[in-house]
Amino acid sequence: MDPTPQAIRAALTAPDPEPLFAEARAERFRSKGNGVFLRGLIELSNRCLRDCLYCGMRRSNPHPRRYALSDDDVLASARLARDLGFGTVVLQAGENAALWTRQRVSTLVRRIRSETGQRVTLSLGERAEADTAAWREAGAERYLLRFETSDLSLFRAIHPGAPAEGPHPRIGMLRRLRAQGYEIGSGIMLGIPGQTLDSVVRDLLLFRELHLDMIGLGPYLADPQTPLGADPAPSEVPVSVGFTCRCYALARLLCPWANIPSTTALSTLDPAEGRIRGLSSGANVFMPNLTPDACRADYRIYPGKICAVAPQADSMEALRADFAALGLVQCEG
Ligand code: SAH
Repeated sequence: MDPTPQAIRAALTAPDPEPLFAEARAERFRSKGNGVFLRGLIELSNRCLRDCLYCGMRRSNPHPRRYALSDDDVLASARLARDLGFGTVVLQAGENAALWTRQRVSTLVRRIRSETGQRVTLSLGERAEADTAAWREAGAERYLLRFETSDLSLFRAIHPGAPAEGPHPRIGMLRRLRAQGYEIGSGIMLGIPGQTLDSVVRDLLLFRELHLDMIGLGPYLADPQTPLGADPAPSEVPVSVGFTCRCYALARLLCPWANIPSTTALSTLDPAEGRIRGLSSGANVFMPNLTPDACRADYRIYPGKICAVAPQADSMEALRADFAALGLVQCEG
């Protein structure tokens, strides 16, 4: 893959995406083998202090029932991840430093490490350097923070409270996390109103420049309970499975080393085929939802979120059948 804006733009708009998908599949086998990593996603809480214009968890949305898991709930989900042979749990939550204090998260990370042996990835939003330093010290190894778009004026428009001046706050935080010794994950939404194709080209090149270890990409799904979703404006970037998979393929070719999940948002857009299409265009990770059943529907960042793969034996079977159809196998790590 020629890492130039012209070549990337051409791949995003070519009439037939199949050669791109085939090249990404070949690269995936070359660089990552035939394994699929499973990460257990544990959604700690939807009590968010931010007001992002696109997100159903935003503070001003009166509709969702708000919840927060107890530490013991989180440990029970992490034990389930261990029993299912996953290897890693991802702790994600609405941004809330009062609820997820430095001390509490440090203790949780230590307990998960010692009681379940699972590795820990954190996704708790924009947090102080001293917090993430303490969590690294406690044994967290990876941090996920999507920069959502590298277009600073669009980023500011959809994130009330983002600094009006200066560089992209999330890109700065990713660099600090890297310096603290984290593996870093980031990514974007595709099809945000006002997003341009050229900005997506720049986002893809930025993944490579940041040397991201993990890349999460999903379609933007309009939520009528949010200001952006209630008043949809056009986007040059399509909200579609095909376009999302082109971006997976380009991320794979530009960053062959990266772990790339087939995301829940993609499966929500196409419940029957989304997962398998993601995995056949370069993705090598899948993140089953291990949030306790009683809370799972409340972590509603967009409507219709499929609570992909409840961890019962039968849905694990469905997952393995998809892997087998693509010549892939579940792989611990
Ligand atoms: N508070 C954490 C987790 C946010 S939710 C953080 O800020 O990192 C995780 C991701 O969901 C976000 O990074 C965003 O890319 C995605 N998301 C939120 N609202 C969405 C929507 N309406 N459609 C698609 N993806 C959305």
